[in-house]
Amino acid sequence: MNGRELRRAVRVAGGSLVSAAACAAVAAGLLDAAAIGEGAAPLPAATLLASLLVLVAVMIARRLQFEAPSARAQRSSPLLAAARPCADVELSLALVAGAYAVVTVTGAASSPLTPLVYAVVAFSVTLQGRAGAVATVVAAVALEIAAASRGVSPAGVAGLHIAFIAGAAALHALFLRGLIARKRAAHHRALEADLQAQRDSARDYRLIAAALGADSRARRPRSEEEEKLAAGAVDTLSKSMYFTLGLVKRSLGARTCILLWLDDRGERLKIKECATDSDAITERGVLGLEGALGAVVRDQAPVSLGSTRPGQIPYYETGEPAGAFLGVPVTDGAHLRGVLCADRDAPFDRDEAEFLSRSTEQILRAIRSEQVFAAVERAKYEHERFYKASARLCEALTLEQVMETAFDAAAEIVGFGLAVMTLYDRDRGRHRVASVRVADDTGLSGYESLDGLEFRPNTGLVSMVVKNRHFLPAGGELRDTHTPIFTKRARIKEPGSVLVLPLLSGDDAIGTFTLLSREKKRFGKDVREMLGVIANQVAISVENAMMYKQMETMATTDGLTGLANHRYFQERLAELLLRAERQRHETSILLTDVDHFKSVNDTYGHPVGDEVLRQVSVVLRSVVRKTDIPARYGGEEFAVVLDGTGEEGAIELASRIRQEVSALEFDSEQGKFQITLSVGVATFPGDGTDKGVLIERADQALYHAKESGRNRVVSYPKFAAMRQTLRETKKAS
Ligand code: GH3
Ligand code: MG
Ligand code: MG
Repeated sequence: MNGRELRRAVRVAGGSLVSAAACAAVAAGLLDAAAIGEGAAPLPAATLLASLLVLVAVMIARRLQFEAPSARAQRSSPLLAAARPCADVELSLALVAGAYAVVTVTGAASSPLTPLVYAVVAFSVTLQGRAGAVATVVAAVALEIAAASRGVSPAGVAGLHIAFIAGAAALHALFLRGLIARKRAAHHRALEADLQAQRDSARDYRLIAAALGADSRARRPRSEEEEKLAAGAVDTLSKSMYFTLGLVKRSLGARTCILLWLDDRGERLKIKECATDSDAITERGVLGLEGALGAVVRDQAPVSLGSTRPGQIPYYETGEPAGAFLGVPVTDGAHLRGVLCADRDAPFDRDEAEFLSRSTEQILRAIRSEQVFAAVERAKYEHERFYKASARLCEALTLEQVMETAFDAAAEIVGFGLAVMTLYDRDRGRHRVASVRVADDTGLSGYESLDGLEFRPNTGLVSMVVKNRHFLPAGGELRDTHTPIFTKRARIKEPGSVLVLPLLSGDDAIGTFTLLSREKKRFGKDVREMLGVIANQVAISVENAMMYKQMETMATTDGLTGLANHRYFQERLAELLLRAERQRHETSILLTDVDHFKSVNDTYGHPVGDEVLRQVSVVLRSVVRKTDIPARYGGEEFAVVLDGTGEEGAIELASRIRQEVSALEFDSEQGKFQITLSVGVATFPGDGTDKGVLIERADQALYHAKESGRNRVVSYPKFAAMRQTLRETKKAS
């Protein structure tokens, strides 16, 4: 625990410990001497009593000032999560200690102040957290027992007190706690209802629709975002609406000016905003198309009534004020959205009706500008995601990563059923499907099999897009369903929507990004534009990935033969030896060296020598297994790692290499010729467990093969045995 944590722990638990110590002091009987009536209390006991009372005051103050750590902080540290229970416990224990101190000095078992203890228990059990409540009851019971054992309180009385404490705790826990919990739950429900009302409002004003933009994008759950966007917009709107209604009401000298909104089915009117001097506005919130309101909705024209009977204006409680009524429809384009009404004692004239009608424009304008704001907010959010996706594309290093990231990015923009990336190999004149993603439950499963499909330029969309470097289908909708997307054979049955975007790199299209969906009208203009940017990014990333791959290949392969180079051989050998050690299997290496290669160069020339090396590499590659690693070790020396192969197998393979190389025939200006090579073999772990040692031993075996006449295979054990025999015969002679 470091210094900071220690301070934290002291801050959280320190108070509880002090309070517990106070309880312990009372339990130990340190106050018994201060009991009133036994003469003057000795100084230490009186001081203790005073300190205890001060402690209670301090603890109350501390609890009142206590601020629980934030939820995040509580999650981060168990210590901070315990802060609130500890705060409750420290106050509880201090109160218990204080209560018993007072009871002790006023006569212990016979004290008239004993109910103080029950009061403390009742307070803690009702209002404190669970930890505080438990601490109070436990401490009170413990102090009763302590008093009985000190003889200050007869056992019977202590038992009775304990029973009362338990009873008081149980009663309060059952009734008051329950009551408070119910109140809290009701408050929580009311809050939820408010939130729901706000969401409904946002929906009524089409704020959410505006916020969510094109239908294609509204499919993903984004309730949280909806709420955030809608809350601010509804708040602003309702303020501006209230202001407008107030203004209209004052201008007309009306009793009430009220805005009602038609529900989706056009059957009911919801009270949206109201400025009124009356206290008789209905609490119903939603009204049927009754009375004067119904007339405005039906006729979609202003309705002005010089006088109304009670009950004819539905937004008043029945029987409440009557008078003149003016209602005008609120229409957005051709759609009736709601009704704006005003009423007062005196009738309204034509100018006033005109004025009220014009006020509806003000209201619609406010709604529209909020819709625009919400849409802008939404676009901002969308673009942010879009930029993040592009950034991820830039970081993708391999082709697979590029494709996967591109699919992810597209999925952020539009819901698709099938996404396909094709690449065009200009040299071979062939298209190839490089990657496919099928989205779940979209009825396009099974088309994963497109992966790897190769086809020549044809009349399909992909081909045309690569040729013309322009997306297809032109209008965004596939009209001619006979046109294949890839090839005639790989036909996609009834694609609802298709979009084939070119992957443009400079003036060339290097392939396509193709999206399909069973649903119609999926890839509209806005979506297409964003996907187009993604496609361009993909083109750059694909080229980068290819370049990266090429660079990697260059770094690991030998230019002349295409085999692994020396460095890569060393790396892979180290890896394979580690694995062999873990899995306890054998692994062999071969070192080969072309015999008298210098004379090949000297006789036939360096280029012919190079051709010989190339042919040897072809033999090596054809003889070894896929898991083996043939490499150009340097000059005219080659090496092979034989993963999981023992000495015998290695010798066999080396012999095959030797034979096949010796069977090669080379042409030159000086005529035909043949070559041979020598091979040294060493096996892990028998001949060495260290990479360096193993190579060294294979080299010794190779040297021995050369020494003993070339064109042969020698394994290290064979060489070692021979060396031994040689030494022994030398010794003997
Ligand atoms: P030995 O049987 O003892 O191996 O005789 P050797 O002539 O092959 O002797 P050594 O292994 O020392 O000869 C290596 C020669 O290989 C020297 C060098 O000119 C030639 N060499 C090395 N790298 C290349 C290459 O990339 N191309 C060509 N053509 N020759 C190379
Ligand atoms: Mg050599
Ligand atoms: Mg040689």
